[in-house]
Amino acid sequence: MRRRRRTRIVATLGPASSGSEMISKLFVAGADVFRINMSHTGHDRLRELVRTIREVEAHFARPIAILADLQGPKLRLGAFEGGHATLVPGSSFTLDSEDRPGDSTRVRLPHPEILAALEVGDALLLDDGKIRLVATEVGPHRAVTNVVVGGEISDRKGVSVPDTTIPVSAMTAKDRSDLEAALDAGADWIAVSFVQRPEDVAEVKKVARGRAGVMAKIEKPQGVARLDEIMDFADAIMVARGDLGVEMPLESVPGTQKRITRLCRKFGKPVVVATQMLESMISSPVPTRAEVSDVATAIFEGADAVMLSAESAAGSYPVEAVSTMSRIAEEIERDPTYRSVIANQRPAPEGTSADVIAAAAREMAEYLEMAAIVCGTSSGATALRVARERPKPPIIAVTPNLGTARRLCVVWGLHPIVTPESTNLDDLVDGATRTAVREAFAAPGDRIILVAGVPLGTPGATNMLRIARTPPR
Ligand code: PEP
Repeated sequence: MRRRRRTRIVATLGPASSGSEMISKLFVAGADVFRINMSHTGHDRLRELVRTIREVEAHFARPIAILADLQGPKLRLGAFEGGHATLVPGSSFTLDSEDRPGDSTRVRLPHPEILAALEVGDALLLDDGKIRLVATEVGPHRAVTNVVVGGEISDRKGVSVPDTTIPVSAMTAKDRSDLEAALDAGADWIAVSFVQRPEDVAEVKKVARGRAGVMAKIEKPQGVARLDEIMDFADAIMVARGDLGVEMPLESVPGTQKRITRLCRKFGKPVVVATQMLESMISSPVPTRAEVSDVATAIFEGADAVMLSAESAAGSYPVEAVSTMSRIAEEIERDPTYRSVIANQRPAPEGTSADVIAAAAREMAEYLEMAAIVCGTSSGATALRVARERPKPPIIAVTPNLGTARRLCVVWGLHPIVTPESTNLDDLVDGATRTAVREAFAAPGDRIILVAGVPLGTPGATNMLRIARTPPR
């Protein structure tokens, strides 16, 4: 089975999509990566989902990536007398550390580190940004705020502090335990929520020790501000537009998405655009025109993957949501303007032999209209550099490493294949040409271009480019 599109699809699993039959249907409809949201998944359920996905993978004989998404430090208010209260615009509202029910004048904020970090003038957004407060007096045990936008608030609603760097790690005790469980279960990618600094990613990488790739979710202005440094540590980036749209004005999100996508393309790091892409499909079998345009924008930008959240996890039309996304991607990629838009955003090669070889491979394959670019890759690094070029011919990533093949499922344009390790160059060329024909990318007698590193099996040693002909019929 091969996809006709280059953009990949991440589908979140949940109550609407947890059985083997549904996961199979989502895979057939176009899901390349399954996301397990650890905010709503216990460890037994996690292991069961991983087992089911691996069965689907074996059935279709195609690698599938599993992304375990850690909850991160989600901040919440305490409880209110009677369960709720109304905050009046212009009034004063205090957040404190007192352990008693709140009312319309005060409530407990059970996060002393936030009270300690707040500064006068900092904004606090409650309940996904519906209520806006601004701190007027701060202290270690209480913050007095002015209610700028009021409304009804209820127990344990979420709190965002867009102007404040939270002085805690992006990993809570729950995240640490979820991370171990996800790595033990065999997740291919770990998503880290509310990343603010490079250390947040470094901490997870230290625990993962290469067993999974680490994807930094950019959902706070602090993460956007330090994106260059975060990119040095992260293996991939997610534009987590849900929380990003709470922490910054909604109208700033599209420009931020473009800047993040372009930076990821420059660094050759996979980028996933997430949240509310086909939101109306939670309850409708067809998307809105605006949603189709939103998905199209991410695809024109050359994002590696687009993601479904509640649409596939809890909606009434999970399969339709995946197939709709797949159809949009196919159609955009066929559009006569697509190649020129992608090419205009192509970053220059970085000054490494791997990049210069990847750029040369793309040019040669396009000028000579070759059937495919085949990358011999053990860690996936060579394939990532070739994908960074966004070439017109298909890219086959040939690897002896199943973990690499799975991880590469999130990357633009790659068709990963697990083959036995080649013992010498002739063996690699022979395997590459046969694979291109067997996977229906090339016909007998077609030319392909092979990119690899010699000596074979040395990660990161991309130094070879070879034109080869597939065996005659
Ligand atoms: C988001 O905020 O866009 C996101 C993907 O994170 P979560 O769904 O975990 O809140």
